[in-house]
Amino acid sequence: MTPLFPVTIADGKVDMDLVLQLYDRLDTAVWIFDFDHKRYLWANKKTLEITEAESLEELQSRDLAADMSPAVEQRLRQYQQDFKKSDTSFSEIWTLYPKGKPKVLQIAMSGVRLRDGRMGLLCEGREHHEQQPETLRSAEALLHTTVMISLFSRQGEPLYRNTASRAACVSLETQFQDQFVHPEDVQSIFDVVDRERSLKFVAQMKTNAGAKWHELTIRACHDAVSGQDAYLVSEIDVTELHETKERAQYLASHDTLTGLSNRTYLQERLTQILDVAKRNDQTATLYLLDLDDFKLVNDSLGHAAGDVLLQLVAEELKALAGPDDVIARLGGDEFLMCHLEKPGEEEPGWFGRALLDSFSKPRMIEGKQRQIGLSLGYAHFPDDGETVDELMRHADLALYQAKSDPNNKCIQFRDRMRRLRDEHRAIKKDLERALKEDQFVLYYQPIACTRTDRVVSGEALLRWQHPERGLIGPDEFIQIAEDTGLINDIGTWVAEQVANLQRRMHNLQNSVPLALNVSPRQLSDSAFLTLMQSLPFETGCTPGRISLEITESVILGDIPNARETLTSLKNCGYQIVIDDFGTGYSNLAYLHNYPIDGIKIDRMFMEDVESGGEIVKLILSLANALGANVVAEGVESIEQRSWLSQNGCNRYQGYLYSKPVPEERFLSMLETQSKIAAM
Ligand code: C2E
Ligand code: CA
Ligand code: CA
Repeated sequence: MTPLFPVTIADGKVDMDLVLQLYDRLDTAVWIFDFDHKRYLWANKKTLEITEAESLEELQSRDLAADMSPAVEQRLRQYQQDFKKSDTSFSEIWTLYPKGKPKVLQIAMSGVRLRDGRMGLLCEGREHHEQQPETLRSAEALLHTTVMISLFSRQGEPLYRNTASRAACVSLETQFQDQFVHPEDVQSIFDVVDRERSLKFVAQMKTNAGAKWHELTIRACHDAVSGQDAYLVSEIDVTELHETKERAQYLASHDTLTGLSNRTYLQERLTQILDVAKRNDQTATLYLLDLDDFKLVNDSLGHAAGDVLLQLVAEELKALAGPDDVIARLGGDEFLMCHLEKPGEEEPGWFGRALLDSFSKPRMIEGKQRQIGLSLGYAHFPDDGETVDELMRHADLALYQAKSDPNNKCIQFRDRMRRLRDEHRAIKKDLERALKEDQFVLYYQPIACTRTDRVVSGEALLRWQHPERGLIGPDEFIQIAEDTGLINDIGTWVAEQVANLQRRMHNLQNSVPLALNVSPRQLSDSAFLTLMQSLPFETGCTPGRISLEITESVILGDIPNARETLTSLKNCGYQIVIDDFGTGYSNLAYLHNYPIDGIKIDRMFMEDVESGGEIVKLILSLANALGANVVAEGVESIEQRSWLSQNGCNRYQGYLYSKPVPEERFLSMLETQSKIAAM
């Protein structure tokens, strides 16, 4: 309990006069200060001396509020609060200015309960001579600063708090560790301070104004009074900064529509998950999912409906995901989820199946029940990939497969790979047999003149006469032949066939030049050049009447020595033609550096022709400048042909004239043509 004034003596008798006389004999200034009226209530003689007061009455009449700074006022209010809360005392060095002269006092302060129940301030002051100005200033600074400074014993008991710290703390007795909103980490904080001597960090602290973010600096030190080991803690309130930063970080890392993470911080989060999985010997699954026909929803129902749909999916993902899982929207209608598996959990893929299951029921969108289609691809850590990149790539491949498979909407990378590998193996074996058993045939597609509609040349196109599957087009096997290297043997067969036909055409009146396709892999094989150089001698063909069609990728650099090989082929007399022009980098400039005789404009540009043909006009004028002849591919309509004819493109190839046909049919077309010409 705060002691009452005046002091009562044990046996109940109080000799007030004696007590007051004793006070007047003290060499210590003792006075009582009225917090509320900012006046001296009572003072002993020594106080009058120090304050240069004529009498107690004169001292009592002084109005200290008149020239009291707001900082001092605030400090006094704080003391008043502190004393109300607990029976405590403080010692500070004050500078008083009685009659304008500075007097430095070491003052011990404590609270006294006044007769009327209010809290007064009991001060005991000794003149303080030996203080250095610097010490004084630093003591003043400690009082005035907004930095919360406190000293704690090693056990966390508060030994000292400056004004700012007292103003902020929940209670003066609160132990160091109890000030933290998350006290779990405190032991490790002490450990670090003991080791490193000091530590700076930001933590959420309990204060009398609620939870606040403080930046704390903790130093190991000694308590100057007791000499015991202690921690000196200074804190500043960084709540505003922290919240702004957190908000900015949230906005930068989250998708505003769904509240899920966005792509930005994903890499970091996923790397963390994989690190945890590696450390704890856990497995994880990375899913990619994509809405089916999302564009259709957006286009037909509007973007608001599209947004609702995306939110529905995000909600479902949140409901299914655990606290350690990562879910994110990658953009558009693409989502990602990474799930860390616990030992004994269901086999990977359960999450995808659960999600599909939940969307098997129609959902309400724009007031109507609608069926939402999803496709999922996933890759399992560590079997299907060990890095974030690898897992993402593999899940993406699996997703691609799921999108085109109506019966399996949740596919694991491994399944897809296995299927592709098996397919490849089977086709490779089949292709080897096809070569041996002569199952390949060449069809020829005529290339005609846009003005006269006469056949001016023919392109050899490969077909596979499969014993069970019938006639198979090159799109189904050329890539596999490339991947397995079989294209070299197949290509040799094609070149020999074309050379032989060309030779046989010598004797025909209606002979036209022929073209054959050469794949990049063939060009990079030195045996191809040797073969082409030997063909004129072995078959008697005329290389000048054979075009080799190569794709832009050959020229654009993936093939070593491309230019040298092409130059050698050119020197043999073959014509070099760029196929599918415009699908690569569409840059005619590079043609300068290569021995190019012609280009074939890819059939996708026939659409451009229908809308003015600006691009085709450009290609034509550039080709003209380079002296290259041009064939337009994929011509299907009379309008396209007349446009080409009007715009100076003389050659065309396409279903309008003829589809690729068997060799005999091609030859009979030529024969008919020469008969008509002779008529
Ligand atoms: P490509 O060299 O661009 O051949 C033209 C493709 O377009 C042919 O497909 C042809 O049938 C098709 N086509 C022709 N006119 C039209 C049309 O008006 N409309 C449409 N929609 N398509 C048309 P095909 O025969 O299926 O050949 C596909 C690709 O396979 C060829 O494209 C070529 O890159 C490759 N290929 C064919 N034969 C061989 C070969 O012997 N060796 C190599 N390495 N590749 C070949
Ligand atoms: Ca071609
Ligand atoms: Ca082509």
